[in-house]
Amino acid sequence: MKDRLLEIERKASRELEGVTDPEALEQFRVRYLGKKGEITSIMRDLGRLPPQERPEVGKLANRLKEKLNRLFEEKKRDFGPGRRDEKAFLDVSLPGREPPRGQLHPITQVLEEVCRIFVRMGYRIVKGPNVELDYYNFEALNIPKDHPARDMQDTFYISENVVLRTHTSPMQVRTMERHPPPVAVIAPGRVYRRDSDVSHTPMFHQVEGLLVDRGVTFGDLKGTLTSFVHQMFGKKTALRFRPSFFPFTEPSAEVDIRCVICKGEGCRTCGQTGWLEILGSGMVDPAVYEFVDYDPEVYSGFAFGLGIERIAMLKYGIDDIHMFFRNDIRFLGQF
Ligand SMILES: [Zn+2]
Repeated sequence: MKDRLLEIERKASRELEGVTDPEALEQFRVRYLGKKGEITSIMRDLGRLPPQERPEVGKLANRLKEKLNRLFEEKKRDFGPGRRDEKAFLDVSLPGREPPRGQLHPITQVLEEVCRIFVRMGYRIVKGPNVELDYYNFEALNIPKDHPARDMQDTFYISENVVLRTHTSPMQVRTMERHPPPVAVIAPGRVYRRDSDVSHTPMFHQVEGLLVDRGVTFGDLKGTLTSFVHQMFGKKTALRFRPSFFPFTEPSAEVDIRCVICKGEGCRTCGQTGWLEILGSGMVDPAVYEFVDYDPEVYSGFAFGLGIERIAMLKYGIDDIHMFFRNDIRFLGQF
């Protein structure tokens, strides 16, 4: 019996060396380790040995079985993941597959960056309803029903007195109604207009700013917005204040920055002017204070509103605003 074991060991080792493919290896396993294999048959024959020999031969047979099992497993590794045991095979040295990771939408990123800049300057964030009363959206901002300025904004009317807000400016009035001066707030949020082309979508985002206190001047407005532009677009960005008109500010100014695409040389994006408009601003019109019981003889302030999509397009050099809302993950993943 011992001789038979030795013979099996020699034969098996030799045979295993000649195994070059998974099929031959499987045949080897069946022949020696399988249910009808040679080792199993030896185990079965143990009963025919004299009782005193059984423990020793049994031990040898077991040891051989373990050895052949080990050799078999080693060989199997040579053929890569074994087909029989694919699930059990794990190569911890292989690099892992990175799961896809989500991130904030570029509009959200820019919105949060704008808010961070003003919060650092001491502004408080306030939020208001998207469905707004005509009173807050227009009337209390010095835009009565028959005012021609209503034509500047293509409004979604829900009813005669309810609109989807066309700007975040209603928050100026809502804030001053609730808080006596001084106030310094920004109001980020969605706004809606009936407009759609490469630079307009029916829904977009604005951030409104309002600061009212004793002795606030146009110089404060310029300083604040200059600091904002430098933090947002870089310290070297040139800007200019251009006289403009809004019914709820007087005087009013739009702010342009030196074109980020052509650096002022003149290109298609800036219409050959070298300048890009990024926000509207002005000193709060005393007429607005009358709606909220602020004394215009004592208090003065400034307000501004900026479009987040506009800023994101300039910051990232995107020429079609609709890219932000097509939800193409290949586009959104780049920010
Ligand atoms: Zn340009």
